[in-house]
Amino acid sequence: ISQDKSIWRFRNLLPLLSHTPPITMGEGGTPLLIADGLAKIFKHKNLYIKNETINPTLSFKDRPVSVGVTVAKQFQFKGVVTASTGNTGVSTAAYAARASLPCSIFVPKSTPKEKLSLMRAYGAIISEVEGTFSDAYTLAASAANQQELYNLTSTFLNPFALEGDKTLAYEIYLQLGGVPNWIVIPIGAGPLLVGCYKGFKELKMSGKISTLPRMVGVQARGCAPIVRAFEEGLDDVKPWVKPQTIAGGIADPLTSYPRDGTRTLRTIYESGGLAIGVDDNAILECVNLLALKEGILAETAAVTSID
Ligand SMILES: *Cc1c(COP(=O)(O)O)cnc(C)c1O
Repeated sequence: ISQDKSIWRFRNLLPLLSHTPPITMGEGGTPLLIADGLAKIFKHKNLYIKNETINPTLSFKDRPVSVGVTVAKQFQFKGVVTASTGNTGVSTAAYAARASLPCSIFVPKSTPKEKLSLMRAYGAIISEVEGTFSDAYTLAASAANQQELYNLTSTFLNPFALEGDKTLAYEIYLQLGGVPNWIVIPIGAGPLLVGCYKGFKELKMSGKISTLPRMVGVQARGCAPIVRAFEEGLDDVKPWVKPQTIAGGIADPLTSYPRDGTRTLRTIYESGGLAIGVDDNAILECVNLLALKEGILAETAAVTSID
């Protein structure tokens, strides 16, 4: 396809064999919008929104999942599996369908029913799990081992997924014609934030840019293991005991893999950035604010970055 605006325009920078056909639906290439309405309210200058809601399955997860499912095909896996609070599952189900691969998804019981029906529509097999995202994570990992499925859970389990995430940095650089001072990203375990920073570091190594952005990770106060460690000035993240927030998409207590949070925390420190917590009331306010001032309807997890 000529004039490819998808993440696959960066194919030379993705670690895949040259003959592997991508499993793609035009993910990425999302607009970077000037956000003057919000900028006025928050008294900011030069505020932009990277609108990831217009990806094929409506979240940025299509970036890592497109690369991940392509890799699953390349290495001839018999199927894919993921743990998900919603968006990774919907994305993986869709891309697996496109690749003719069976797809198993483990979700916490609290996952919104609308997201489950989307996964089902794409033919995925869904297991609803008692407990949190971390419990789903453990079950997905053992299914991957026992049934030799390719695991696309959005943590740091899958290094290829991170390569999909880094395309966000390339796009921001090209659209802005430079490097933003700050980038604010809602985080669960944080692969999007770490992947994005990796992309900018590659641009710096290649001599295209000379500065790096400061990375800000945002979590809901009701499940904020990375923010807590940041506020206490610690080097390591500890799991969160009782997650309780309406922002289910980023409610990752990191129960058996706190090191994933530590990796994100140290990336934030390295960049000279921040980790910030927002409470549920503020999150709901931001859903309204983003819709009323910018014309973008986004889910609770996504708007934490506005607060
Ligand atoms: C997955 C997700 C996040 C968190 O991203 P991670 O890379 O898993 O930390 C934030 N917002 C939305 C809407 C998501 O789907």
